[in-house]
Amino acid sequence: MSISEFALIQRYFTTHFPKRDDVILGIGDDAALCQAPEGMQLAISVDTLVSGVHFPIDTNAKDIGYKALAVNLSDMAAMGATPAWMTLAITCPMVDTQWLTLFTQGLLELATRYHVGLIGGDTTCGSLAITIQLIGFVPKSQALCRHQAKVGDSIFVTGTLGDAGLGLASIQKRMLLSQQASDYVEKRLNNPTPRVEIGQMLRSIASSAIDISDGLLADLGHITVASGVGATIELEKLPLSQALMTEIPLEQAWQLALTAGDDYELCFTVPAERLELLAKFLANEQYTCIGKIENQTGVRCIDVKGEPFGLEYQGYQHFS
Ligand code: ADP
Ligand code: MG
Repeated sequence: MSISEFALIQRYFTTHFPKRDDVILGIGDDAALCQAPEGMQLAISVDTLVSGVHFPIDTNAKDIGYKALAVNLSDMAAMGATPAWMTLAITCPMVDTQWLTLFTQGLLELATRYHVGLIGGDTTCGSLAITIQLIGFVPKSQALCRHQAKVGDSIFVTGTLGDAGLGLASIQKRMLLSQQASDYVEKRLNNPTPRVEIGQMLRSIASSAIDISDGLLADLGHITVASGVGATIELEKLPLSQALMTEIPLEQAWQLALTAGDDYELCFTVPAERLELLAKFLANEQYTCIGKIENQTGVRCIDVKGEPFGLEYQGYQHFS
């Protein structure tokens, strides 16, 4: 079945997405017109998922749609922003209506949950790639940045780490896991939970924040470099899921937790005087203190005896 580009946009990307009063003019003109609320700054992020690079080529379309928005929502979370509007640039090899239906379902799941309006985009023919730009609001001067971590701050992460890395190993058959564990970690890889609500709560508490997309060491490294400080992580404190603890040796689990990407948990720092407030605000959330910000630059990992942990691999980098 072949449908025109305009019919495609109309059918899949116009009607089902949340309607917002602050969208003056949505899809259909040369550009969208939106009204930002008084006193708010705009947080703007963009992320591209390329087939075969950011997801295996046989990933199902619903998971691709979900993840394309999840990774951007995670960036909003890391800034403490409230997501509002998105644009979608989609390049696909052909018009496959079944694929588009599933893709839209995945996208809609998160768009609906966070009330994100789809205000425009671009549709082109080529190798499969999806780019979403997400725009959110953050009260003036309250965004969570990477450059304000201070010596003595405690370092925290949300959720558990390394699940997506094990999920990828499981999907690629590099690791043979029990059915229950593989279901769990593959779901963590394909449907990560963006920590949007936690990010917003952290605005008045955290001194810095980042989302873990390239692995804890790499991403915490961005905080320490931007802030001109260093960090020590205590390996025993790394939060690991049941799947990691039961299916692979501990050292391998640590390796994944430190270096595997795609978890989309938050890593943030909190000064001593705001720790009580943190416990109060995040009483119902899963988060763990994993170490401290220090004067000495670089990120170190120590075991329970204070011995350094030797790493084989430092995190995902494009073009290397
Ligand atoms: P133009 O030629 O002016 O760039 P297009 O033909 O690319 O316009 O798009 C027509 C309208 O449809 C625009 O409002 C554009 O934002 C919207 N649009 C195109 N592709 C998408 C998409 N994948 N998702 C959402 N909106 C889209
Ligand atoms: Mg266009």
